[in-house]
Amino acid sequence: MTVDRILPTDEAQDLLDLATEIADRELAPKAAGHEERAEFPREVLRTLGRAGLLGLPYGEEYGGAAQPYEVYLQVLEILASRWLAVAEAVSVHTLSCYPLAEYGTPQQRKRLLPDLIGGEQLGAYCLSEPHGGSDAAGLTTRAVRDGDGYVVSGTKAWITHAHVADFFNIFCRTGGAGARGISCLLADRSMPGIQPQMAERTMGLHASPVAQIAFDETRVPADRLIGGEGEGFGIAMSALDSGRLGIAACAVGLAQAALDYAVGYARERRQFGRAIVDFQGLGFMLADAATQISAARALMLTAARLRDAGRPYSIEAAKAKLFATDVAMRVTIDAVQVLGGAGYVADHPVERYMREAKVLQIVEGTNQIQRVVISRALAKG
Ligand SMILES: Cc1cc2nc3c(=O)[nH]c(=O)nc-3n(C[C@H](O)[C@H](O)[C@H](O)COP(=O)(O)OP(=O)(O)OC[C@H]3O[C@@H](n4cnc5c(N)ncnc54)[C@H](O)[C@@H]3O)c2cc1C
Repeated sequence: MTVDRILPTDEAQDLLDLATEIADRELAPKAAGHEERAEFPREVLRTLGRAGLLGLPYGEEYGGAAQPYEVYLQVLEILASRWLAVAEAVSVHTLSCYPLAEYGTPQQRKRLLPDLIGGEQLGAYCLSEPHGGSDAAGLTTRAVRDGDGYVVSGTKAWITHAHVADFFNIFCRTGGAGARGISCLLADRSMPGIQPQMAERTMGLHASPVAQIAFDETRVPADRLIGGEGEGFGIAMSALDSGRLGIAACAVGLAQAALDYAVGYARERRQFGRAIVDFQGLGFMLADAATQISAARALMLTAARLRDAGRPYSIEAAKAKLFATDVAMRVTIDAVQVLGGAGYVADHPVERYMREAKVLQIVEGTNQIQRVVISRALAKG
């Protein structure tokens, strides 16, 4: 189904057209095969980078496109509707550029940012640990100052791009317990002691490699400290406010793909002498899905427009992530139902969509954590 969008500029429309063209040509035909073989599509990411789609929200002086967040998110939504793993990769990469782009010194940005957002590199965001996912402030990876650098030791868990990233945001403890003891370091793949472990055997997103990373006395130069010592937790949370909107966009795109596929099938498939879409039981299910997707998109865009206007948006981002990912779960489950037995086999993409939707309710703060964020804001008044 064509989505009717109100975009801020003609340039934004051109970008969405370009994203659609690349998504149809490079993503859609490759998704099923790569997912089946658990093969990361590095070349596809390079193509997106060369087309300027890996640095959309960042400044032109660093090689970005200086696009409003609402435009970036709609590009992401289009990519996700063709292949979630690629959209997620773009979202994680964009998240990984955020600490430097927002908190780096002018010198750090000038020196490092063009390479990060230039399209050839991919980033990883190393916050979660084996014993601390939701309770990120309890992280234990340690960085000890030693001369002109830090020596980092510890293990990060569930790191997207662990095996393929060129740079790593490492959230690590330079001070005492709690959030105030955490700092952010930006490491390169070339630094010794960065050891990705065996890839996790995930339920979905097989083309997106996720693994623990052991940091074994990794030496990171002191001029790779982003923000001051002790500012890392604030940086991590601020990055996640933006990142959660990326996950919401992925969810909207995935849900739209599932709905479109289910509608197409329901119009073709006949039972009892009629197209199954004409049975009210199915038609209403599809109507609910279409309505929920529109609502999720509207919530996501409201939060993005607040961000673009420089207004506080973290609570709206939490609501958008929570709602959009719950919608994606519900809609993909229903899409399987609409296809009946055909929905349960890999000949059709909806069983994959259903498995992929699940992770969106977990990453970048589980949906319980989004509710914690929203309810705390309500309690504070
Ligand atoms: C495929 C994949 C990719 C990922 N990529 C990255 C990445 O690139 N970088 C990164 O740093 N992390 C990444 N993660 C980690 C992800 O962010 C964490 O899995 C998530 O934050 C939850 O942490 P946890 O798995 O330790 O679960 P836990 O924190 O142990 O939570 C277990 C359960 O308890 C619930 N819970 C915990 N605390 C509360 C509370 N206060 N109130 C109510 N319920 C609560 C949770 O909602 C959950 O249901 C990824 C995870 C996956 C699966």
